[in-house]
Amino acid sequence: QNHNIFAAVRGGFPQDLDRTAIETLDTPGYYTWRDLERGSAMMANLLASLNLPEGSRVAVQTEKSVEGLMLYLAVLRAGFVYLPLNTAYQSAEIEYFIGNAEPAVVVCASKNFGWISQLAFKAGTTHVYTLDDDRTGSLLARAAHHSDQHTPVARQADDLACILYTSGTTGRSKGAMLTHGNILSNTLTLKAYWGWQDGRDVLIHALPLFHVHGLFVAAQAALISGSKMLWMAKFDPKLVVSRLPEATVFMGVPTLYVRLLAEAGLTRDACKNMRLFTAGSAPLLIETFNEWRERTGHTIVERYGMSETSILTSNPYRTEDGERRGGTVGFPLPGIGLRVQDDQGGACPVGEVGGIQVKGDNVFAGYWRMPEKTKEEFTADGWFKTGDVGRIDERGYVTIVGRSKDLIISGGYNVYPAEVEGFINEMPGVAESAVVGVPHPDFGEVGVALVVPKPGASLDDATVLQALKGRIANFKVPKRVFVMNELPRNTMGKVQKNVLRDQHKELFA
Ligand code: ATP
Ligand code: MG
Repeated sequence: QNHNIFAAVRGGFPQDLDRTAIETLDTPGYYTWRDLERGSAMMANLLASLNLPEGSRVAVQTEKSVEGLMLYLAVLRAGFVYLPLNTAYQSAEIEYFIGNAEPAVVVCASKNFGWISQLAFKAGTTHVYTLDDDRTGSLLARAAHHSDQHTPVARQADDLACILYTSGTTGRSKGAMLTHGNILSNTLTLKAYWGWQDGRDVLIHALPLFHVHGLFVAAQAALISGSKMLWMAKFDPKLVVSRLPEATVFMGVPTLYVRLLAEAGLTRDACKNMRLFTAGSAPLLIETFNEWRERTGHTIVERYGMSETSILTSNPYRTEDGERRGGTVGFPLPGIGLRVQDDQGGACPVGEVGGIQVKGDNVFAGYWRMPEKTKEEFTADGWFKTGDVGRIDERGYVTIVGRSKDLIISGGYNVYPAEVEGFINEMPGVAESAVVGVPHPDFGEVGVALVVPKPGASLDDATVLQALKGRIANFKVPKRVFVMNELPRNTMGKVQKNVLRDQHKELFA
């Protein structure tokens, strides 16, 4: 049996290849299933013609386009390793990634060809192509000379398929090595758990293609289910709302939901054909969860995942599996083991907070060229330490409390920033907040809160502190509060606590 992901995805295409697979919205256009089949075959034949060594990486930094999706399929189809790069990355980042991954082929936007090709050739790359979001570029021009017939190369389940660099929220990005088996098992699990309906779902795809969420969780699930996508190169809340009535599935990071809620057109009627809204990549505020339910009549399914594992847990889709509980990330997916351990490696009792560890076919094969780091992040009995801290309640729901690197130990007590942030976020006039630990001569470490007011609201540090005292234990109350206009975020929209910690590290020195 061929374990090549492409073979499975291709198997999900509808019988009639002339049906629409993707409708592009920002620049109106249509792609049939045959277009995807032929386009990826031609690109796969181009890659095959280059006589690349086994295991060669194909690094891709291009604006989102359907041709970019075909390229992903083509790399798998040809048996090489797909390595997507965030479009926001600039020269220093690209230099690091290309130097670290040593790709044989680089595909970039034509506007960046000059400097990227220089970096690439220095790192040993033999071919650099361009691909733009207007269906032009040397990749397409060269692929056009190749046959549109291609048999997927045979792959084993444990053959490398993708290297995904993590978002770099806690430090330098690491290359997570994912095999054909890892990715396919997760796609099939999610297809079943979220009830993808072969040929009948319509997904609004408004996420970038360079990470797990947009690529595997959204696009690949639609492809393997033979379901149509309404495709948006850039998220545009008005456009999403205007097409919601034709759609059945939408997936977003929490900020997309916040922006959609600001649209007056977001009504129950607009969502009448929808069956599934999912959120993840960052915590969904309970306020957003509740407001969404009131406005649309739909309850968002929050789930939790990461580059190293794809999706680990999800709130239930079917009512018979339980209710969708805001503030939790639901249950471990079928076939995925999840446990919570204390620092000594003992199991935490129900409801106790500890390090989240996971096991399953979806768990990656290790960090690219970081054997030591890989070893550190797995337990002796083979569980992956996610770096996230959380708890499991008596009904099995998992709650993420934060990241172990963000944990504050103040005077010997553990303070979980997410818990304190939760109390701050409930206060009137607060839009969002971040609590970080900084060094302190007496307590070792203390919490400092950075609070962003809602537009037009006035907030001061004393009010926030006063409101916390008496509500939570004194050791959890931040020692200082700063009101600021916005929190620093990385290109994935995640709050960079390392930056905040750095900015305030001298506060009590
Ligand atoms: P790095 O590992 O480089 O520091 P990163 O962990 O942010 O970066 P990703 O793999 O893109 O890189 O993100 C995975 C992380 O996102 C998870 O470990 C978790 O902390 C967070 N996350 C994902 N989904 C949720 C969710 N529903 N609620 C809270 N956090 C989430
Ligand atoms: Mg991480």
